[in-house]
Amino acid sequence: MSALLRAFAFILLLGFLFVPPCFGASDEHAVPDPEQLAFLEKFHGHVCGGSLFGARLGLAAKEAIRTSGGKGKLKAQYFDISCPVDGIQVFAGTTYGNAALSVIDQNEHRLVLTAKDSKHYVVATMTPKALDVAKKSRKLRKQAKSLPKNSGERLALEQEIADIFAWLGTAPTSEIVTLVTGQGN
Ligand SMILES: [Zn+2]
Repeated sequence: MSALLRAFAFILLLGFLFVPPCFGASDEHAVPDPEQLAFLEKFHGHVCGGSLFGARLGLAAKEAIRTSGGKGKLKAQYFDISCPVDGIQVFAGTTYGNAALSVIDQNEHRLVLTAKDSKHYVVATMTPKALDVAKKSRKLRKQAKSLPKNSGERLALEQEIADIFAWLGTAPTSEIVTLVTGQGN
């Protein structure tokens, strides 16, 4: 092999080694838009892990159902009356007012999104890691509330909570949401 060919092969190898891993396009798209998150905060009245759960579940399920070929109006069912419902309304576009959302209160953070015409469905749940992190944020919030306002310790806890919310809003979908898709009646 000539020196030139060897050099060329070496450059090719370097390129192969240093090209970053390719993430699925749908995963990139499924990270919530910051402006829409700001709207959710206003609509919901506060920032919380629950509304972010809803945003991630709603957006991921909506993208997954369209990717799997789902056609027609989307209908959502959620199995807990709590903060995620508002995130789902904003990010899946299925609202209580447009009769595309029903909520069954049985203490389950599970979203089922169905496409009316093609009967495709997506079941979206939170990953154990996301549930753990949200649980931690609730614990930290309780601790923070017991401390004097503006104390260094409280501000540090509040920063930790803000970091958790930032992660919930921006981490790749696969870290936050588990999706199961199918087609049925
Ligand atoms: Zn909330």
